[in-house]
Amino acid sequence: MRLLVVEDDADLNRQIKEALEEAGYVVDVATDGEEGHFLGDTEPYDCVILDIGLPQMDGISVLKRWREHGRSMPVLILTARDRWSDKVAGIDAGADDYVAKPFHIEEILARVRALIRRAAGHATSELRCGPLTVDTKTSKASIDGTTLKLTSHEFRVLSYLMHHQSEVVSRTELTEHLYDQDFDRDSNTVEVFVGRLRKKIGQDLIETVRGLGYRLNAPDQSADGTQ
Ligand code: CA
Repeated sequence: MRLLVVEDDADLNRQIKEALEEAGYVVDVATDGEEGHFLGDTEPYDCVILDIGLPQMDGISVLKRWREHGRSMPVLILTARDRWSDKVAGIDAGADDYVAKPFHIEEILARVRALIRRAAGHATSELRCGPLTVDTKTSKASIDGTTLKLTSHEFRVLSYLMHHQSEVVSRTELTEHLYDQDFDRDSNTVEVFVGRLRKKIGQDLIETVRGLGYRLNAPDQSADGTQ
């Protein structure tokens, strides 16, 4: 999952970025509204953390422009504690949630997790697909109850496919959501990670859809709808 943090306070920006990276996300950052707007307008993010008080362009304007351009990624806004009007303006502009400053970083992490899974249509923090389980809270994956030993890249691939299970996910889409802006991307590496994942979870769960990408399928979905 790839996130964008737009915050002009350098310390706070770094603190949020580090906490998100530690939680397994890849993170791009911007420190003013214009740069933030440009990134959110041109790059595919799974969630954006957007400060309201920003230089160049304020957060509300950034958000309004994204929504006007049809950018629909989940957006969590950061507001000053006593500015209730910012919360109202932010939500009216298209924010999905807000956190008031000062905050505990765990609150940001919990809200980001919830926004990402809600955007993908999942109501709980534990995602299931046949024998596979991904706990988005602990960043752990298991198969038939046994914890899988995955590298951070393998986990990201699996987590993205789990959030988008039964959908065809192209190699480009996977690449765009696995690496930050500065990473030297090589789409072949996605194939390598999928190959390694298949060795750990079995060959059948991740289907290669020729010419299109990958699809994570639950076995016997129709016969076994419950877990
Ligand atoms: Ca600010």
